[in-house]
Amino acid sequence: MKSTSLFKPFAFFSFLLIISLNHVKAHETDTIKTSKGNLIIHFLGHGTLMFEFDKKIIHIDPYSKVADYNQLPKADLILLTHHHGDHLDSTALASIYTKTTTLYWTAECEKSSKFRAPASVLQNGDKLMWKGILIESVPAYNIENKRQNGSPYHPMGEGNGYILTLGNKRVYIAGDTENIPEMLRFRPIDIAFLPMNLPYTMTPEMVKDAALMINPKVLYPYHFGKTDTSIIFDLLKDSPFIEVRIRKME
Ligand code: ZN
Ligand code: ZN
Repeated sequence: MKSTSLFKPFAFFSFLLIISLNHVKAHETDTIKTSKGNLIIHFLGHGTLMFEFDKKIIHIDPYSKVADYNQLPKADLILLTHHHGDHLDSTALASIYTKTTTLYWTAECEKSSKFRAPASVLQNGDKLMWKGILIESVPAYNIENKRQNGSPYHPMGEGNGYILTLGNKRVYIAGDTENIPEMLRFRPIDIAFLPMNLPYTMTPEMVKDAALMINPKVLYPYHFGKTDTSIIFDLLKDSPFIEVRIRKME
């Protein structure tokens, strides 16, 4: 009897410890080898990623609803794909932006952001080098999915996807887009992040079509909300060279 009463507080404190450890590292990471050292991908949730590469921190579409940015490292580089609230979040930006941060975003972000700081607008087709990383800005838009008034959720030319060359790896972060014909010109791609939720982006069938155009070695569906992620495995079962990885990116 005595030993159980001693054990109970111990069990309770270890339970608290596990809870607090989980709180510190609440997100998953993957490590990818490149010719310039490891790329560590932090899966923060939804359409939001953080990369560690070549001693630099890259935040993509930082969103304070999925992570506590006061607990995360400051940004050397921030890339925003477009101005929607789950991609342009002033609270998150204010937490990670410093005087030495480079921020690239879109013209619509520039117009509508409450967060004001020096930033550069990238348009579809822009290409530049930032500290040894080639950044290519590519189109991201809807063809089928439209609002009730007939305008696409993401009109052509407004948002960007980004292709980053990190050492010998080309990483494509699609932003909010559908399977657009421009994707045929993105190859070669090693790692692709493709959004998979309706009504704003793609069905699993559209993600399959996009994946076949891009032919990535690793495909991470992201920004997938409540979409059944098992469907994409079935759809791509005849494409063994594309490895599908599901992370917590609802
Ligand atoms: Zn959007
Ligand atoms: Zn979105």
